[in-house]
Amino acid sequence: MTYMTQLNPATGELITEIPETDPAAVHAAMQRARAAFPSWSQTPLAERLRYLKRVREHLVDGIETIAKDIAKATGKVEIEAVMAEIFPTADTLHYYEKEAANILAPKRVKTPILFFGNHSYVEYKPMGVVGVISPWNYPLYLSIVPVLSALIAGNCVLFKPSEVTPLVGAVIEDLFTAAGFPPGVVQVLHGGRETGQAVVAAKPDKIFFTGSVATGKKIMAAAAEHLIPVELELGGKDPMIVFADADIDRAVKGALWGAFTNAGQVCMSVERLYVEESVYDEFVRKAVAATKQLRQGIEYGSMTFPPQLELVQEHLQDAIDQGATIQCGGRALQEGTLYFEPTVLTGVTPDMRIMREETFGPVLPIMPFKTEQEAITLANDSEYGLNASVWSKDLPKAKRVASQLISGNVCINDVITTVANPHLPFGGVKHSGMGRYHGPEGLHTFSHPTSIMVNKGTKPREINWHPYTPELHQAFNTLTQFLYGKKRSVPFPALKNLIGQVLGTYRKPKTTATTTPTTQQNTQNQNLPM
Ligand code: NAD
Repeated sequence: MTYMTQLNPATGELITEIPETDPAAVHAAMQRARAAFPSWSQTPLAERLRYLKRVREHLVDGIETIAKDIAKATGKVEIEAVMAEIFPTADTLHYYEKEAANILAPKRVKTPILFFGNHSYVEYKPMGVVGVISPWNYPLYLSIVPVLSALIAGNCVLFKPSEVTPLVGAVIEDLFTAAGFPPGVVQVLHGGRETGQAVVAAKPDKIFFTGSVATGKKIMAAAAEHLIPVELELGGKDPMIVFADADIDRAVKGALWGAFTNAGQVCMSVERLYVEESVYDEFVRKAVAATKQLRQGIEYGSMTFPPQLELVQEHLQDAIDQGATIQCGGRALQEGTLYFEPTVLTGVTPDMRIMREETFGPVLPIMPFKTEQEAITLANDSEYGLNASVWSKDLPKAKRVASQLISGNVCINDVITTVANPHLPFGGVKHSGMGRYHGPEGLHTFSHPTSIMVNKGTKPREINWHPYTPELHQAFNTLTQFLYGKKRSVPFPALKNLIGQVLGTYRKPKTTATTTPTTQQNTQNQNLPM
């Protein structure tokens, strides 16, 4: 048995060791999941939701210990473990407990006149076994929400937590065990890249991945071999646009929270801040003063993953080498820990790495803009498109700008929060990923929508069935012109023919056509305008 070590990045101390799942065991886990699927998918939704409720209740009952475990595994401050992991998880589960029946109920849709008398609806069926692979930055929220969404929709799940925060993977496994899911319905596979690869190789019916662009591309390529659908929730380089008419003091506080919460390791962190020129100096002065007030271990925690801290330093060095200025922060704190000072950077230009690549650390680069159009152009000049924010007291202007941002989510006069509204779909565009979850989309993404059209079957035949005759051809010309043409008047003989053809569907056919298809086609061609 091999073990994964869990260090506390805020202290460097060894917390625990978690047994790793042998990647070779993933195949057997898939077989158990496949065996569990028929019964779980047939379990009434109300009963499936009772398991969900139990997970929520155990999570909330254990709020204090779970927050401590998350903080120990990630280095985040405990309040952020509650505010941004436990609370939104409970909130999203509660939302689905109330809304799932409605979201997954068959949806009646209209039926066109050609199929008069039929009715049509869409049914949402589970896909089978879903593979969920998660990252380390919000290891609870970004795992439980997709796993349970897939379960509510009637799927079984193979879940692989991040190897960087194995303690949280174990906490989640305990929650599922306490909820008492039937065997094989949800299985936690602890491990790193090889275990993730084994999940993909086990050919699940859908892969839901949250993580980096580089891994997302590899997973999509591997999934393509078996035509497995993927949902990819990837990185970001989110812009924040502050107009001169915004509440500047509020915008400063919002920017600091958006850039430094979770030590900047948020896919929707404020990573590029554009401030209108006339208030730029005031904004920078206030941002620097407020950043210096932030207290280590109280308002900001440590970073989580050593290579990420190195990347932050690389991005900063690259910016400084090209003329940027650190206004405050910029240093790693305390040897043996992953604390990095919240950093405000000015003198940045759009071509610097710090303005193009995901930094994923507590750094706020600020640059000025002159016009609304320039702000939009700068914000859209990115490979990413996850979230963005627009700050102005002029809401029509803020909404106008929001509509022009190429982004999966936009906040007005706030940052990040769209993800925490469980009614809103969440996901990115461009390199930030594909697919949406949360909201109704969060259950539909784990379902096969099946289109069903019901004909009572009381007529001997349908108008579009054989035999084809010149009169039928003429009737379809008439119908198409009448319904969709420029001139909608129909000459009386054509209308009479159309009615005759419709009524004909209610009569039993006398005999079937005796002509060969070729002769019949030729006859039609002679009689009809081509
Ligand atoms: P990562 O891509 O390194 O790892 C994510 C998960 O994938 C881990 O569980 C890892 O073990 C697994 N994995 C790695 N290689 C694999 C492979 N070849 N096949 C299968 N699984 C594999 O990402 P990370 O460093 O854990 O997370 C940080 C990244 O996640 C950042 O880019 C961040 O922006 C992004 N993120 C996105 C969202 C979102 O919702 N869009 C949310 C949080 C984090």
